[in-house]
Amino acid sequence: MSAAEPDPHEVLEWVIVGGGIHGTHLAARLLGEGGVAPEALRIVDPGPELLHVWRTCTTNTGMRHLRSPPVHHLGLEPFALLHFAGGRRAARGTGLFARPYNRPSVDLFAAHCADVLSRYGLPDLHRRDRAVGLDLNCDAVRVRLGDGHELVGRRVLLALGAAEQPRWPNWARELHTAGARVHHVFDSGFTLEPDDLPERVAVIGGGITAAQVAMRLVKAGARVDIVSPHAPRVHEFDSDPGWMGPKHMRRFAATRDPDARRALITQARHRGSIPPRLHRALRAAMHRGDASWHVGQTQHAEPGAPHRLHLHDHVIEADAVLLATGFEARRPGGTLVDELIESHALPCASCGYPVVDHHLRWHPRVFVTGPLAELEVGPVARNILGARRAAERILSARAPT
Ligand SMILES: Cc1cc2nc3c(=O)[nH]c(=O)nc-3n(C[C@H](O)[C@H](O)[C@H](O)COP(=O)(O)OP(=O)(O)OC[C@H]3O[C@@H](n4cnc5c(N)ncnc54)[C@H](O)[C@@H]3O)c2cc1C
Repeated sequence: MSAAEPDPHEVLEWVIVGGGIHGTHLAARLLGEGGVAPEALRIVDPGPELLHVWRTCTTNTGMRHLRSPPVHHLGLEPFALLHFAGGRRAARGTGLFARPYNRPSVDLFAAHCADVLSRYGLPDLHRRDRAVGLDLNCDAVRVRLGDGHELVGRRVLLALGAAEQPRWPNWARELHTAGARVHHVFDSGFTLEPDDLPERVAVIGGGITAAQVAMRLVKAGARVDIVSPHAPRVHEFDSDPGWMGPKHMRRFAATRDPDARRALITQARHRGSIPPRLHRALRAAMHRGDASWHVGQTQHAEPGAPHRLHLHDHVIEADAVLLATGFEARRPGGTLVDELIESHALPCASCGYPVVDHHLRWHPRVFVTGPLAELEVGPVARNILGARRAAERILSARAPT
């Protein structure tokens, strides 16, 4: 039976909800290291293929290389991506890796993802649908699907990510409702085609995405105004590298209070930051007059030709507005997770995020990864490294009967 037609009597070992970076890495690890048989695992995701969200988000930004080092990837062995590329020496001068830290190119990373997916036959395990409800019984989890069918598994992994909640400021919603040309670069179904955009574009946001999108537009000949609540914050990574290992994580693990952990995560994250190399490119574009950086918040906006964005002390005119404002900070999962918490009294911190055990178990049959595992995995939870850390912990959990 194919993944498209679940057998209603079949009890799977694992149902993974979410086929992004986290869900697919966990699937590969469960099959490759966890002794799970392919026919006992399904990945539920509404995208046309696994990793669809990753592909569209990275394509829209125009980023050429990842921000993370080459040991952060979907494969099992830490050096699998480097070996896949033929080794560091063979790759020298090819653009496959970029300084500093030998960050892999987006194309190399994508080719390696495709290799991992095909090695474990993951596309065949993809059930293209949305999980709309979860019923936890004493011996199984029923995952209700959007098409009215259900999958039954011994355990479910929630690998939901944040991508379904791009952050839209109120003024931008109103501008959009008024018919103006406003898009969020991570909106589902939005493809950024710089050649289709007018000459003057306002990019809203002050982090790596805003800078990447601005540079993409400048290269296509646009004049870009970046509106950011702060001046450029220059950091290589989105948190201090000490959070990738025991240096900072020891302190985090020793902090038991979830609110104190949330405070540590907030402090650790370099939110809205730009790596030095990209910052240099942006500065050069600003120097040439192709881009400007405005520190401020849009108070309100008027649609028209051009649209007018009112900041507290001046007005910006633009023919199109692109939001690079990231994702909502609220807990992902919407009603699926809200109802699960309510029906099973699952523990949450005051920030609304799950309080889980060391093995990322929220309930004997429910595991989490990504943002939902943040209070246990720490500041790197949302990143590729977070998926690898989550896999180590989930694989070491004792199976429920
Ligand atoms: C442009 C960009 C570049 C990044 N670059 C890096 C980098 O270089 N290095 C790094 O470490 N990190 C990077 N990140 C951060 C992080 O690794 C990515 O955001 C990654 O895609 C997160 O993966 P995920 O699986 O948690 O979430 P997502 O990619 O959001 O995937 C979650 C999936 O779950 C699905 N889903 C949600 N709800 C349901 C439901 N009810 N039923 C079924 N499916 C559902 C969604 O549709 C989605 O397909 C980057 C992020 C972005 C946006």
